[in-house]
Amino acid sequence: MGAAVIDGKAFADTLRGKVGAAVAAFREQTGRAPGLAVVLVGEDPASQVYVRSKHKATVAAGMESFEHRLPATAAQDALIALVERLNADEAVDGILVQLPLPRHMDEKAVIAAIDPAKDVDGFHVINSGKLAVGEEALVPCTPLGCLMLLKDRLGDLSGLEAVVIGRSNIVGKPMAQLLLQESCTVTIAHSRTRDLSSVVRRGDIVVAAVGRPEMVKGDWLKPGATVIDVGINRVPGEEGKSRLVGDVDYAGAAAVAGAITPVPGGVGPMTIAVLLRNTLVAASRRAGLGAPE
Ligand code: NDP
Repeated sequence: MGAAVIDGKAFADTLRGKVGAAVAAFREQTGRAPGLAVVLVGEDPASQVYVRSKHKATVAAGMESFEHRLPATAAQDALIALVERLNADEAVDGILVQLPLPRHMDEKAVIAAIDPAKDVDGFHVINSGKLAVGEEALVPCTPLGCLMLLKDRLGDLSGLEAVVIGRSNIVGKPMAQLLLQESCTVTIAHSRTRDLSSVVRRGDIVVAAVGRPEMVKGDWLKPGATVIDVGINRVPGEEGKSRLVGDVDYAGAAAVAGAITPVPGGVGPMTIAVLLRNTLVAASRRAGLGAPE
């Protein structure tokens, strides 16, 4: 019997619908729409695609979308000045600076300039610190989306063994914090981990956020494990075309796992849906309203 497929696209569509309804209620209560400002520096093609889809999703949810573009040659001071203007702008509830930034800029300094209350990516150290100590924070979108899928599939996660592969500030570390908050026993694996396959075999839950195509094999998994594949890797496909694969060997893993997210259609659609939710949460807190569900 093969693994159940965790349909991230369907879950994300439902979440976007809920956010849209809550945005309508927010507009009734406050007389304005929540606003998300996205800043793109330079012309990186992948970033342009992400920014476009964020803009479309923001508008579709009934929110205000503000796009700001700076040339790749812009000075870091100019970017920080823009962030400070957005911090002070009452119509802006969320600020997202699309990463990566050009090499001459210091990402940490730019993120540090964002008002933590508007940091809908959840990358500011105030938000990562609050997440670590269990205070109300804005939580990075991708790991929060993974947690939603896990809770939807498994219900109570308490006591489960969770193995997170990857320790980036964007995915791996906040994922581990969220699972710890759910009372999982959490192992974080990374490039220096010894005997990775036997570490992964402990996991009732395995979250792969590595950036290496199909690295996690089916025979690494505990039978019945729930597998969340965060990886998005473009590899050569048939007839000179490329295709997307995750960090998990899907066919091999699906024969052993209890449930697994596909790539595409798993974690990817959750990221934007959670960004919309985070923007609504930031807007509701700024307006002194209770946080939406
Ligand atoms: P990073 O490159 O920042 O981090 C990768 C992590 O994987 C590092 O901690 C690294 O370890 C670890 N790693 C690398 N090689 C190995 C190995 N051989 N064995 C074990 N661990 C290893 O990537 P991100 O966290 O930003 O992203 C991870 C993946 O998720 C990428 O494919 C990215 O495209 C995807 N992604 C998808 C998103 C979505 O919306 N679905 C959003 C964000 C990312 P070390 O720290 O030791 O170097």
